[in-house]
Amino acid sequence: DYSPPAYTGPSVDDIYKKRKEFLSPSMFYFYKKPLNIVHGKMQYLYDETGRRYLDSFGGIATVSCGHCHPEIVQAIVNQTNSLQHSTILYFNPAIAEFGEALASKLPGDLKVVFFTNSGTEANELAIMMARLYTGSHDIISLRNSYHGNAAATMGATAQCNWKFNVIQNGVHHALNPDPYRGVFGSDGKMYAKDVQDLIQFSTCGKVAAFISEAIQGVGGIVDLAPGYLPAVYKSIKEAGGVCIADEVQAGFGRTGSHFWGFQGQGVVPDIVTMAKGIGNGVPLGAVVTTPEIAEVLTRRSYFNTFGGNPVCTAAGHAVLRVIEKEKLQENAHVVGSYLKDRLTALKDKHEIIGDVRGRGLMLGVELVTDREQKTPAKAEILHLMDQIKGICNNFTLLYEWFAKLITFRATN
Ligand code: PLP
Repeated sequence: DYSPPAYTGPSVDDIYKKRKEFLSPSMFYFYKKPLNIVHGKMQYLYDETGRRYLDSFGGIATVSCGHCHPEIVQAIVNQTNSLQHSTILYFNPAIAEFGEALASKLPGDLKVVFFTNSGTEANELAIMMARLYTGSHDIISLRNSYHGNAAATMGATAQCNWKFNVIQNGVHHALNPDPYRGVFGSDGKMYAKDVQDLIQFSTCGKVAAFISEAIQGVGGIVDLAPGYLPAVYKSIKEAGGVCIADEVQAGFGRTGSHFWGFQGQGVVPDIVTMAKGIGNGVPLGAVVTTPEIAEVLTRRSYFNTFGGNPVCTAAGHAVLRVIEKEKLQENAHVVGSYLKDRLTALKDKHEIIGDVRGRGLMLGVELVTDREQKTPAKAEILHLMDQIKGICNNFTLLYEWFAKLITFRATN
């Protein structure tokens, strides 16, 4: 029964006419005429005509407390009215309080928090810290991973769709422990051997870090084979390196059973990076590490201008309160288990469903034409997209991009 406020701004046609002059071409990559989303309320988005859409994308895996959640909006307004920005070189209550609350959510000696503006920056910082701390340059990441799009993180990312340059920056890619498509099925220890081989044959025996997601998000919701992370963490430590957990997608209770994705594999990383769900949509990221590793930056007075600005950290603090108060992690577990059961039941009925995977509300379904061969259902998906073409403005580019992605997954 909710109706959004009347919209009086420019129409999508007005925006579209000006696109060549003002807007980045990437906005028109998928749609010649994109949707003009003008309002959000909890799980719904509204366009300029008041039409409602269920946002199953959750912003872009960011708005996990709901669009314009009143408590988070209020925290942003209050903070904006008292202090909008100063510099990270001084304290302010918002950053200090949120830093403490965030550190309390992490296990072991993970206590020191650095704030950034995004997941890319958090991973760049984590990689830089690992290199400074260990004195080594070599980084190991997983094939099919996504870690960001700046210098070091684009090297760590291993998917051709997202790699716009191929300067590896000392990164080596290990076999992906993918239970569905990987050569060793669900045997995490066998894939871990590949990391030992990389250390032995592609480095001089010492490494700076291993970085991975616990469940690959952009790579198609791949929950790493059980037993993989404990075995790899052991090898990395023996080679003098540190272990970085990229929790940009899997953190903040999304996986239901745990607050952090890595907890599902029973490991404790040396550095944890996060963004997306941390601020429910405000630009915020963070790196949490041990006092010993953080020390390498103390002597170098590292800072960035906007990271940890009080408005975003106030939002982040409100997010933690909302997750707790509304039991959102438990909700992800209950609702996610129900959804996974129902999807698995559909698999028994429909041959096209090859795999249902993931944890909590981080779930994926893979469609295939032949379960034995695991042939991607490319033509079928494109046909389905053709059928829903009517409700979208232009599917051609999205269509081509999708076809490329499906082929990529099949060959990797
Ligand atoms: N790491 C993971 C696992 C991601 O999914 C992403 C973004 O999708 C990033 C890092 C990069 O985050 P950002 O887009 O905030 O730079």
